Amino acid sequence: MSDLHTVCKRCGAESSIPSIPLINTSVNPELKERLLSGGLFIWECQKCGERNLATFPLLYHDPAEKVMIWLSDGSADTEARMQGAIAVEGMEGYTGRIVDTPGALIEKVKIFDAGLDDIAVELCKFVTRQEMGKNAELLFFGFDGADNEITLTYPENGEMQMLRIGFNVYEDCAAIVRRNPDMKKAASGLCRVGRSFIDRFLA
Ligand SMILES: [Zn+2]
Repeated sequence: MSDLHTVCKRCGAESSIPSIPLINTSVNPELKERLLSGGLFIWECQKCGERNLATFPLLYHDPAEKVMIWLSDGSADTEARMQGAIAVEGMEGYTGRIVDTPGALIEKVKIFDAGLDDIAVELCKFVTRQEMGKNAELLFFGFDGADNEITLTYPENGEMQMLRIGFNVYEDCAAIVRRNPDMKKAASGLCRVGRSFIDRFLA
């Protein structure tokens, strides 16, 4: 664990907070809990009480599910190094992803924990945006197996809106992914699977 030097966005007070470079879910399951609750990246300013969002690079590794997600700090050098290191280690059977925000990391963990394919989920979002007829920033929130529904969220008018879609939408999308092996191929190694990934195939 190393310290990250950071500044409160409200009052400008400087602070040192712990940054976590690695979560191995079998070694530190409590860190995964803190990640999912959002607590890992939130720090409270000692001076004014403001809750700030910290950003630091982090490697999330779930050896049981064979999932590896790199929360990038946007440095192309670090990303290339990370991809190189993982290529050497071997990614046999692994799903490897790069994300750019803590929110996107949490979303990916939720998708994989629910046993879903994130490419199919991105496709669901694409279809849902088409149906909504607006350019909403959709995020996967949860999958309720009992109701057979997937919940997506998106910000509108300063509030978080919830949207439920039937599991049949997901199943249709998963079928499309299965019929397009190029999609799976493009998502191998350590790569970004977000909106632009889907646009590449559907544009
Ligand atoms: Zn402050």
